[in-house]
Amino acid sequence: MAQSRLNRPRADLAEWLRCPRCGADVAHAHDRYRCGNGHEFPVVLGIPDFRLYEDPLIPREDDYRKGERLQREAERRSFAELVAFYWTLPTYPPTAPDMRERFIRHVLTDEQRIAAWADELGRGDALLDVGCGAGVLSASRSDSTSAFAG
Ligand SMILES: [Zn+2]
Repeated sequence: MAQSRLNRPRADLAEWLRCPRCGADVAHAHDRYRCGNGHEFPVVLGIPDFRLYEDPLIPREDDYRKGERLQREAERRSFAELVAFYWTLPTYPPTAPDMRERFIRHVLTDEQRIAAWADELGRGDALLDVGCGAGVLSASRSDSTSAFAG
């Protein structure tokens, strides 16, 4: 996948988003979103990063490098292989092997689990799947929802 596409979120996403610091509208330009009050948020691998604080478990730059590594691997691995690869990477604190296996199994069974309760979410014209993980919920609704982002 070309780098230029990775750094370009869908054109209408800004209509859905607000600055998490001040609540103002945001606009996308180049590699970031910016509100009218000057707050800026980068877009990394096509994903807007609206975090206001460092993740205590992984510094932001380490998180970006981890994402870039995963993106490179995604081009040559199946989804299941990529999930397994992800859990070979360091975590802070370290994740016990039995928990790694549990997390892998959880992700790889998402589709069956979501299919079982997706109808309970109701129907609507739009869906914003925040913290979407592998995007399974968005994928399950792509046929029945006219606009979705995750
Ligand atoms: Zn702002």
